[in-house]
This record gives sequence, C-alpha cells and structure tokens, in this order.
Amino acid sequence: MTMPDSWQQKPIPLSNPAFDRASHRRFEPAFLEAARQSADALVIPVWRSRSLVAGEGEARRAVLIPAASFDWEIAGELAFLGFGAGRPHFGADMSALEPEDVQRRFESHGAFEDLRFTGQWLETEEAALLAYTKGILWWHERHRFCGVCGHPTQSVDGGHRRLCVNESCKAEHFPRSDPAVIMLIEYEDRCLLARGANFPAGFISVLAGFVEPGESLEDTVAREVFEECGVRITDIAYSASQPWPFPSSLMVGFRARAIDPTLTLDPREIVEAGWYSRDWVHSLDPNGPLKIPPRFSISRRLIDDWVNEQ
Ligand SMILES: [Zn+2]
Repeated sequence: MTMPDSWQQKPIPLSNPAFDRASHRRFEPAFLEAARQSADALVIPVWRSRSLVAGEGEARRAVLIPAASFDWEIAGELAFLGFGAGRPHFGADMSALEPEDVQRRFESHGAFEDLRFTGQWLETEEAALLAYTKGILWWHERHRFCGVCGHPTQSVDGGHRRLCVNESCKAEHFPRSDPAVIMLIEYEDRCLLARGANFPAGFISVLAGFVEPGESLEDTVAREVFEECGVRITDIAYSASQPWPFPSSLMVGFRARAIDPTLTLDPREIVEAGWYSRDWVHSLDPNGPLKIPPRFSISRRLIDDWVNEQ
C-alpha cells in the first residue's frame, strides 16, 4: 500500500509517534512504582508551564534527569509518560517551588523556558516529549477540583485520569485537548495571510479558530474564514494536525479555496490581511519587517507545503 503524504513521512513538529506511551501499563500501580524506581528511569521536570532546557540558540536541548539523582520529595503531580528508547519517562510538576529555589536546584542542569519560544530550536523528538509533558501537567494543575461537585480530585492511572474524592460523586476527569482549526486559503496562485489583533507587529500567518459545540471541523473552517475576512470558501480538505500545548489545543490543519478574493476584515480579530504569491513568501527575508511563523508550528507547515508545490 502506498502511504499518502503522511505523518510517517513528514514528521509533525511537537509530535512523535515513535514514543511508546505504553498506555496499557497505566493501570498497574506496582509496575508504575517499579518503573519510577528503576535505575534507567528519566524525569522531565516542568515548572509553571516552562520546560527545562540547556544550551543556547540552535544548541538548545531538552534536559531529562536520571531518576536516581532526582529529588522526588519536592515534586508535585507526576505522570507516567511511557518509554523512550526502552527507558521509562516521568513528567514531574515543580511549580510549587519558589523562583529562587527552582533556580538553585536546577541551575546545574539548565533553565526553565517557554517551549513556545525554545521549540523552534529543539530536535523534533525532544520538543514532542516536552510538549506532551507540559500538556499533561498543565491539565493536572487546572483540574484539581471536580467540575461537577467542587470537591478535590486525585490523580490515578499514572497521571492519565483524575477521580473526584467525593464518594457520592466519583466523577472521572480525563486529559483533554481543545480542537482548533488552522487553514491555508488559496485564490488562484495566491494564499491568504493575515495579522491577528493579538499578533506582534509584522507577524502574519494563516487563519485559525476554535471549534465550537455543535460544529464539524469543516463548519469551523468556513465560519472562521468568513467571520474574520469575509471570504466564502469551497473544497475544504484536511491536511495535517499538531498538538499545540499552549495551553491545551489540538490544531487541525486544512486547505481550502476562496470563491471570491474580496476581503472584508473584522477589525476585532484581524488587523491586516492580503493575498500573497509563492514567490513572495519564498523570498521573504527572515530578518525583514514581515515574518511568518517558525518551522515548528503547523501554520508554517501549511505555508511551506503550499509554497513547495510548484
Ligand atoms: Zn465530584
């Protein structure tokens, strides 16, 4: 069977299907404890949604701490992530530490930085591991109390489920990803790029938006493009998806064609927008006044795939 242009052939930044999540082992407390205490276990600490990295610029790398030298006593929530290269990996939330304490304890390893900033320099596998860890620990932080009855919840299944402690409730809470669509819109040989109201000056990208209850992904693509730029579209086709743990999205990428290129912008959402040619995008100076997203985002993947079609 010939595989389509798939995630196997073109890795998606921030995802790594080769990492073994070993989800069937999450329900075995004895296994989880033995894995945590094993000599080859590794810990990925996260502090207030920041990931531990060492080095500068393109030499940045994720820091994985051998479990034997990790002080489990100071960790908050833990999550069994799975196996990488046969070694058990655990995420550990260090957010309760004060800034001075966290610096003192971890400065020999590196510094806690925002993955949204550092992700562009990390190897795909490392960025994916940090994204996974950050995503699940953020979910724990935001689900400490039951949304049904207000009682505390506790982590079970190796950190992949939370259970309400109220005996008369016992509601289960699972890690969630919020779907958002992101779409490259074409008209003839140009694509639509826009600057959102919350973007930095000079930064342009494809359009995106959150899926609302009762919508299909295609409904959202069509609604967002019309609401933000006044453009009706057709031929909506799935392209690729990407985990985007900032804080908890799943970005679902699409391509579509505009029926008419006339733009009517919603100024609350879009500051400027225009139709750009492949040559224009291809010759964009990375140090110039206009910038497109970095290569670790699916927005850039959609743009690059389109530019490279010719
Ligand atoms: Zn409850």
